[in-house]
Amino acid sequence: MSGGTLLLEAADLRKEFGAAAGATARALDGVSLRIHRGEAGAILGESGGGKSTLALVLARLLDPDSGSLVLHGPEGGAVDLRRLEGGALRRARRSIQLIFQDPGRALDPRQRVGDAIAEAYGAGAPRGVGALLERLGLDASIAERYPRELSGGEKQRICVARALAAEPELLILDEATASLDAGTRRLVLDVLRERQRAGCAILMITHEIGLARWFCSRAAVLYLGRIVEELPTSALRTGAALHPYTQALLAADDDRSEAPRTGSQRTAPADAREIPRGCRYRAFCLMPQIPSCATEAPYLESSPGDVHHRVACPVVLGRNP
Ligand code: SF4
Repeated sequence: MSGGTLLLEAADLRKEFGAAAGATARALDGVSLRIHRGEAGAILGESGGGKSTLALVLARLLDPDSGSLVLHGPEGGAVDLRRLEGGALRRARRSIQLIFQDPGRALDPRQRVGDAIAEAYGAGAPRGVGALLERLGLDASIAERYPRELSGGEKQRICVARALAAEPELLILDEATASLDAGTRRLVLDVLRERQRAGCAILMITHEIGLARWFCSRAAVLYLGRIVEELPTSALRTGAALHPYTQALLAADDDRSEAPRTGSQRTAPADAREIPRGCRYRAFCLMPQIPSCATEAPYLESSPGDVHHRVACPVVLGRNP
């Protein structure tokens, strides 16, 4: 993803989980990503593709098995997030905030929600808490209540307020606006947009192509733990996406009228335990395949004329032998 100066650089992240009968599931299998200050990017893909694992790893709430994760400072300098511990790790986590889809698990049931936000604010909290709550469409008096006294939408906005109070450099939203009603969602997205324009990078982890197109400038498409395409979201709008999996996502989307129909007629049920040799999408791909589809995992390459649009498919790039 591109934009301002580099903020977070992830390289070759890998993460496996134990699965039934001694099998392992490769949730991340060589993911590399660059996030720049003040940009809005999206990670697109279906459930089971590794999106939430990636969010946890980027926020350093889950350790990858291998790979690097480097946080760059505004004036130069960089820290390897994987090596941080103690207070340094806590400070780094403060600068990368993650909001989950389910706000219930993210809030301490014994803590008043205002105290949770004030904790994130630090000094000068009391006035700031009320203003932030009101900006998110909540009455300031809600700060005195406990999570069990709030609706799901209110809890989610408390999570957003708490994350913003920490003044992060990167805010990751893992389907965090998916369950909000339309009006509340717009309100939250407007506040996030303001923060983004003030320099906070926003990474939307989502299955919603419409949201990615509207809010973000760039997107990466994740399939079974690998990025198969990186592209401007304007390419999602115009149907210029190239990878057959991205095309299948577009075709499955409600706005599919603009999406191309070549390459694949459906999206695959992602199952990280059964990754085939060669291209992991080949069982569902309707493109005329070449021998390497069955033997080599394709890597991201720039499309002709656009170094920022990269695709992991030699066939659509015309690189057939
Ligand atoms: S590499 Fe081969 S199987 Fe994979 S998406 Fe491209 S054409 Fe299809």
